[in-house]
Amino acid sequence: MLDINMMTSIDNLDDKDLRKLYTLIGDRIPPSVVYQLKSTKCRCKKCKKGGKGHGAYWYAYFTYKGKTHCIYVGKEKREIKPLEELEKKKIRMGGKK
Ligand SMILES: [Zn+2]
Repeated sequence: MLDINMMTSIDNLDDKDLRKLYTLIGDRIPPSVVYQLKSTKCRCKKCKKGGKGHGAYWYAYFTYKGKTHCIYVGKEKREIKPLEELEKKKIRMGGKK
């Protein structure tokens, strides 16, 4: 819980500590997600002729640790948990970090 003592101690921090705290907090706050409905274009005839593309599908965009991420949601819009999706994506990419 954020109490008055904590607020006072924050007031007493210097720039260096504040920056540290900011990074610490930033890593813990789940990013806010923006959902967008988009149609995708591929190399098929219709798309090449300037068609509407396929879909439309939902994508979720969010910024985390200074990077913007795009997560494919699907045809149905659903709320995603950005950090969990990021973990899944990492696993899919085959990266161990
Ligand atoms: Zn196509």
